[in-house]
Amino acid sequence: MNWFVTVSLRRLLRHWKFGAAVLLMIIGGGEWHALHAASARGGRNPEITWYVPTQQKAVALTFDDGPWKSSTPAILRILVQHHALATFFVIGQQVLRDPAIIRQETRDHMEIGNHTFSHINLARHSYQQDLEDMAEASQAITQAAGQPPSLLRTPYGTYNQDVLRAARTLHLHVVMWSWTEDTRDWSNPGVETIVTRVVSHIQPGDIVLFHDGGSDRTETIQALPIILRDLSLRGYRFVTVSALMKMH
Ligand SMILES: [Zn+2]
Repeated sequence: MNWFVTVSLRRLLRHWKFGAAVLLMIIGGGEWHALHAASARGGRNPEITWYVPTQQKAVALTFDDGPWKSSTPAILRILVQHHALATFFVIGQQVLRDPAIIRQETRDHMEIGNHTFSHINLARHSYQQDLEDMAEASQAITQAAGQPPSLLRTPYGTYNQDVLRAARTLHLHVVMWSWTEDTRDWSNPGVETIVTRVVSHIQPGDIVLFHDGGSDRTETIQALPIILRDLSLRGYRFVTVSALMKMH
């Protein structure tokens, strides 16, 4: 290794222009790595939140793709029974269908986040299309909840510079989820699997991903009280994403 490094350095010095270019690539690559490399819990883009580094025993439960009559009210009741707050990343066109569920979520002090109007893959659309779709969702939420959302979760977790720019324009902060806390409940893996995926890796500041829409959410509804009981016994509190972000 040392021999290789020495020889390489000699070569670099001999062909200094080439060497300088390679060194710049290495330094540049290092910086890119430091900014974007993944930890076990999430990426490092400063514009996106995957988890909140905190010592406080608090986590944020999040539910995507609602509201759905067949599952959201049941989930809401369980959360209230367990004195747990959560964040619902809702789809604008669903909000127009069931604004009463959003009003109930707001009355129960849950946080409502933007999950686009029509659940489009934002990274595959133009800046203008992204902007319009997100704005339409924010408008539907504002109308139903009485206040505009401040958080955005992109469908499929995709993003690019245009998506982030559109989010900035609409004053939406992008929130993903902790990579160790993805229940993948949409695939109906079984109640035990959903519970295990949450409780076995949980850490203070984690953001847990569930779904309250899309298809039959019976497993999510059955897993939720078990998760709430287990984590409560271990001293965890359940707060909204915005509240968690203030514990930084
Ligand atoms: Zn979604």
